[in-house]
Amino acid sequence: MTQPRQGKIIIISAPSGCGKSTIINELLRRGEIDLEFSVSATSRAPREGEQHGVNYYFLTEEEFREAIAQGKFVEYEEVYPGRFYGTLRSEVERKCAEGHNVVLDIDVKGGVNVKNMFGDRALSLFILPPSVDELRRRLEGRGTDSPEAIAERVGKAEFELSFAKDYDKKVVNDNLEEAVNQTDKIIKDFIAY
Ligand code: ADP
Ligand code: 5GP
Repeated sequence: MTQPRQGKIIIISAPSGCGKSTIINELLRRGEIDLEFSVSATSRAPREGEQHGVNYYFLTEEEFREAIAQGKFVEYEEVYPGRFYGTLRSEVERKCAEGHNVVLDIDVKGGVNVKNMFGDRALSLFILPPSVDELRRRLEGRGTDSPEAIAERVGKAEFELSFAKDYDKKVVNDNLEEAVNQTDKIIKDFIAY
């Protein structure tokens, strides 16, 4: 029996609130691309509506540290003080081995690390907000974070935006449909090649 072709890796990064999840969910909903979401592990608490094993694997900090010690992560970062996020080796390896392309929603440091690890097998894509003010408005409008968490996320955005130059491709998420269509085309071109 012939083995399926190994899937490719699509890394999507952006400051929180730029619309990564919205864009990824729309691409998954359209179902035109053979794309599976890499469910990360995190030690942050679930937001309302988030499900274990769907949005994240929600671990305690102790469980997260055990998983690090057991070598379960391709990469992990303390994205906010005391809150860890990591890409599970099992997610990426299994899905790619089955021939599916895998999409990773990960922070800027993790994104650059994964791109360096996988080279041409990975595409790194950065989603930019129209402006930092609009980013703040979207986080407020999402209604999932406290004012302190929003200030923390906006405060970090400038630092994160400085990583955009290290990514293969950039998309500005101003009009959502246009941003989804651009992302869709970039991914299709990459996996066809
Ligand atoms: P991220 O995953 O990058 O943190 P989200 O996908 O949760 O961001 O988007 C943050 C908020 O902005 C959500 O409430 C979402 O509905 C909204 N949003 C996303 N894209 C746009 C857009 N192009 N215009 C206006 N609002 C948007
Ligand atoms: P949120 O708390 O809004 O879900 O995510 C916060 C940040 O953590 C986002 O920038 C998101 O992309 C990032 N993130 C999510 N999963 C991972 C992961 O597995 N590794 C890394 N390095 N960052 C992640």
